[in-house]
Amino acid sequence: MKKTYDLIVIGAGLSSLMFLSQYIKKFNRQSILLLEQKKSIQEDQTFCAWEGPGLKSIINSFKLRPKKVWEKISIQDGNKLIIKDVTPYRYVCFDGKETLKKLLKVCKSKITVINNQKVKKITYKNNVHEIKTINQTYYGKFIIDSRINFKEHEVKSVFVKQAFIGHEIELKKATWNKNEAMLMSFKKNKNEIEFTYLLPFSSKRALIETTVFSSSPNLKSIEKRHQIQLKKYEAYTVKRKEKAIIPMAIISPDDERGILKIGTSAGMVRASSGYSMRRVANWILKLKPRKITNNNLYQYKYQPNPLLNWLDRIFLNVIYNFPEKGPYLFMTLFSKANMSSLIKFLSDEASTYDLLNILLSMPKKIMLKGLFKK
Ligand SMILES: Cc1cc2nc3c(=O)[nH]c(=O)nc-3n(C[C@H](O)[C@H](O)[C@H](O)COP(=O)(O)OP(=O)(O)OC[C@H]3O[C@@H](n4cnc5c(N)ncnc54)[C@H](O)[C@@H]3O)c2cc1C
Repeated sequence: MKKTYDLIVIGAGLSSLMFLSQYIKKFNRQSILLLEQKKSIQEDQTFCAWEGPGLKSIINSFKLRPKKVWEKISIQDGNKLIIKDVTPYRYVCFDGKETLKKLLKVCKSKITVINNQKVKKITYKNNVHEIKTINQTYYGKFIIDSRINFKEHEVKSVFVKQAFIGHEIELKKATWNKNEAMLMSFKKNKNEIEFTYLLPFSSKRALIETTVFSSSPNLKSIEKRHQIQLKKYEAYTVKRKEKAIIPMAIISPDDERGILKIGTSAGMVRASSGYSMRRVANWILKLKPRKITNNNLYQYKYQPNPLLNWLDRIFLNVIYNFPEKGPYLFMTLFSKANMSSLIKFLSDEASTYDLLNILLSMPKKIMLKGLFKK
């Protein structure tokens, strides 16, 4: 006889596992199946987020151990360098593999997890969803879908992509200031916004990423520039690699009967930054916990803040249409804005005062150009 699960979750990535780790605390009597296409958790990600006053603590709520915490950040364009002490806020980095492993461990005894199951097709028949993978068929009353598979009409802004290639490397000589994370060090590039992101875990070990915001990034060419950059560090050992293309766009998924989209395809990646851990955490931690039923699945749908989306749309228009202005835009924002307002803005927790502060700190001419474009 076929088994029908109460809930089938597709994808064992960040949004699914953060969601499940909280959901099963309250509702552990439902039968839940988690299907993941990969064989195991990879070592190819780090998740960073802001922590501090006015922000729900990811560390405490999800019982995660940070890999490193910084109280100083910097941003640079040519010889202009801005260093900010962000206390009482902190820029916190979580190791991707450790984080996903920890979240999965919390859920594992309460749910069924099957790896190597790439979902190919979902059909709805007789009030039940039929999920077909390459070699199996599963049945579920409700589906939570974290696959990245949004449709063109679900993208509600210009479509920028964040592409990056990173290496975590170790040197023999102490080189970096381990107390300061470099968020953006801009490179000269007329057609794209390009910068280095450098997270020093110690004076000898750091994650160095070459990142590009572009409508059509070319990973091969980013790789070349990244390798040139790494050459300045002699005799380094590569500990880990990261490589990704993340959508930077406002995405609003269609409603589908009995299916809840979460993660990237549900607009949970912040359009102006490409970050999602904070948004996913805020979404889950603010939800009024309810056992998922036919009548309340829609209450779980991620509802973006319209004001933040409006501002992000202007940012995206600038990045898309005037990439050469990008470094000036970010440098102005970081030098003029109140750090607490900026961090709350980046963390989806800005008050009206914070939003006003951000608006007044932006270069007016560029933002007006972004406002009236498309
Ligand atoms: C290298 C890297 C670094 C990042 N750094 C940060 C950061 O510092 N801070 C931050 O906030 N965000 C960061 N992000 C962005 C974002 O947080 C991540 O992309 C995050 O993983 C998004 O969560 P998700 O659940 O939407 O997608 P994922 O975590 O990618 O989860 C989706 C899961 O679904 C599985 N899947 C896909 N298709 C199928 C299918 N057909 N069948 C079964 N399973 C399927 C995938 O294998 C995957 O495990 C980073 C992303 C990457 C790639």
